[in-house]
Amino acid sequence: MSATPFLQGRNAIVTGSTSGIGLGIAHALASAGANIVINGLGTAEDNEAVRTEVAASGTEVIFSAANMMRSDAIAALVDDTRDALGPIDIIVNNVGIQHVSPIEEFPEDKWDAIMALNLTSAFHLTRLVAAAMKERGWGRIINIASAHSLVASPYKSAYVAAKHGLVGFTKVIALELAEFGITCNAISPGYVLTPLVEAQIPDTAKARGITEEEVKRDVLLEAQPTKQFVTVEQVAGTAVFLCSEAAAQITGTNISVDGGWTAH
Ligand code: NAD
Repeated sequence: MSATPFLQGRNAIVTGSTSGIGLGIAHALASAGANIVINGLGTAEDNEAVRTEVAASGTEVIFSAANMMRSDAIAALVDDTRDALGPIDIIVNNVGIQHVSPIEEFPEDKWDAIMALNLTSAFHLTRLVAAAMKERGWGRIINIASAHSLVASPYKSAYVAAKHGLVGFTKVIALELAEFGITCNAISPGYVLTPLVEAQIPDTAKARGITEEEVKRDVLLEAQPTKQFVTVEQVAGTAVFLCSEAAAQITGTNISVDGGWTAH
């Protein structure tokens, strides 16, 4: 007889999880037994396909189209999750976007959108689940930051500022919730070949005046001593570990999964 998956009965919200890293984390948490709320933009058909795919693990999986730029939508996401699944045990603040541009030309609306999604959405979701997690005496808050939470690259002012901010937020929440069985940690991936990274290759090529192939070789993988992209599964495996009992005393940290990038 196989052992009970260790997250059986736990309910997890993974923001921005219809593609890339978030989808990988949703799959991994579902495989570990958790019920999942998938969230993201996209067509109803695509979202249902993703939901069905993650539900193949045998746990309950629901989809929320909450726009994570809006606090009212985030509040509705929390209410809908409680109605459909019950108490919220795990949140993964994963949603994030990127924009690459020199500071003189950096569009104001892109700055605002990056701050809203990459930083402020984590504030809203965390503030809305914290009291109930405290009451239950267990919780896992995982913030997907980036190597850019530790080091900078030119042309990514908003992203680097938001990710540095997210790590500061992680530490504060870890301290506030430490005595309640709740941990809060950041995971900082290096480059993972997801739609977010693929989309910035043409803009980086333009900003630096080089080809797209040169961006991959000389900009992206140049940063990573292993010369390999990080995989979604490697980031997801770290998130699952952070939900385990073995990680119960790990809080307030920022775990790099970056092929050695930030060891430079
Ligand atoms: P992705 O573009 O593949 O996925 C982004 C997800 O967010 C999608 O599900 C999309 O539908 C959703 N989304 C976008 N805007 C939304 C909104 N307003 N409301 C709700 N959902 C929205 O991105 P990814 O590469 O998987 O990145 C996920 C996270 O990992 C981000 O925070 C990113 O900064 C971080 N990260 C990525 C890399 C990388 O190399 N890909 C490296 C370090 C950190």
